[in-house]
Amino acid sequence: MQFLQESLIELITQTSTNLPPDVRQAMGDAIRSETPGTQSSQALSIIATNIDMASEGEGPICQDTGMPTFDVHTPVGVNQIELRKAIRAAVAEATKRGKLRPNSVDSLTGKNSGDNVSEETPIIHFEQWEKDEIEVKLILKGGGCENKNIQYSLPCTLDHLGSAGRNLEGVRKCILHAIWQAQGQGCAPGAVGVCIGSDRAHGYLLAKYQLFRTLDDTNPVPELAKLENEIMQEANGLGIGAMGFGGKVSLIGCKVTAANRLPASFFVSVAYDCWAFRRLGVRLDPSTGAITKWLYRDPERAVQRMAQSEGFPLTGREVVLRAPITEEQVRALKVGDVVIIQGEMYTGRDAVHAHLMKNPPPVDLNGSVLYHCGPVVLKQGEAWTIKAAGPTTSIREEPYQADIIKNYGVRAVIGKGGMGAKTLGALKQHGAVYLNAIGGAAQYYAQLIDKVLDVNLLEFGIPEAMWHLKVHDFVAIVTMDSHGNSLHAAVEKETGERLAELQKA
Ligand code: SF4
Repeated sequence: MQFLQESLIELITQTSTNLPPDVRQAMGDAIRSETPGTQSSQALSIIATNIDMASEGEGPICQDTGMPTFDVHTPVGVNQIELRKAIRAAVAEATKRGKLRPNSVDSLTGKNSGDNVSEETPIIHFEQWEKDEIEVKLILKGGGCENKNIQYSLPCTLDHLGSAGRNLEGVRKCILHAIWQAQGQGCAPGAVGVCIGSDRAHGYLLAKYQLFRTLDDTNPVPELAKLENEIMQEANGLGIGAMGFGGKVSLIGCKVTAANRLPASFFVSVAYDCWAFRRLGVRLDPSTGAITKWLYRDPERAVQRMAQSEGFPLTGREVVLRAPITEEQVRALKVGDVVIIQGEMYTGRDAVHAHLMKNPPPVDLNGSVLYHCGPVVLKQGEAWTIKAAGPTTSIREEPYQADIIKNYGVRAVIGKGGMGAKTLGALKQHGAVYLNAIGGAAQYYAQLIDKVLDVNLLEFGIPEAMWHLKVHDFVAIVTMDSHGNSLHAAVEKETGERLAELQKA
């Protein structure tokens, strides 16, 4: 199969860089229905620009390209061992080309394999079928939304929704709860794949596989079609909005399947996917490996630009910050302000935060901007180039952030999805601010990075290292200020109250 390798690399590249038409359509509808001028609308504007930049420049839509998951169907007689080898080699090559972030980390040593390949990564499922062609479907689902997957065992009691029994009404409550608990941390607006029944492990798999359905299809099972429609309506009335900023669009898809269960078990498994819903597929000629057809794409329909305007609409009221930032500058900021960062910042995520709890920082963090980001970076000659650099989910750093602000004088933390009460307390006590960048907007933010000035702690792997960056016009929104205000806490409370109203309705 002389074309197999290039076909698989092309599938990975296209999946990582170009959203399928049904997702583009859903995101276009979301952009059109959001109220102009709101924070949600501003976020969607950046998202639209990012989608265009990714497809035009063939860069990853989001820096977190997830754990590549392949669903493969082969005719009887195709050598699946060879096909597995070819997929693994294609994944390694696509990583080398900067289309995938090295995301495969040894769970015992913390060492990144560097090429996304290990014994269990990428994930590949094979099935045989009667057709005379190979089908390879791929989904790239990042860690932020993966962490918001949730499984319920009915009967149970849910926040704001009360008791959920072993029936479709109980299932409805679980799905609504799953969407509510994700807030902005899974980069809303998102989509959910749901499995009713099965066992714990297979239920999660079937839930994830619902994400291989197009967002605009209709469930062939009437009661599930009805449930999907109800969830779409109700979830979009909750007011979570893009990035959890509060707004009209929280969900772009709900896909539900049911599978037989044990009499003793009744699981509802929910796979939450973000707006960067990357899923594509190809059919391959089994003798040559050449692509004969793309799945999810309409060859008659050209890819339309998403953005109505360029990036983030500025009003002139934005506040410019340049490190080193003073306490006075930070105290002047309040929730809702838009800031533009010029100059220097450091990245730091899970490994850096854990390291700083026991070791002094390798750089002076006084007055600094700390960006929760695990970028895609390539070394070209002696220089590092940032290929994708959106924010990661900040709540993972909640156990550390307050101490790091206190001990090292960080003045601004950038991330997405917000942080908790301990960090909010530290912002107030020590004079710092939390800035929400737009999750998934990896190309948009990468073009605002002028230069990699240095890198520390590279032994943690590329995404986890501490990158010293020089940026220009880096836009973010104050969502937690130094006066005890948190947009995230406010939206969670308001949407929780709306969830409770759905329980009574
Ligand atoms: S868009 Fe957000 S949730 Fe999705 S992969 Fe990117 S960072 Fe993760």
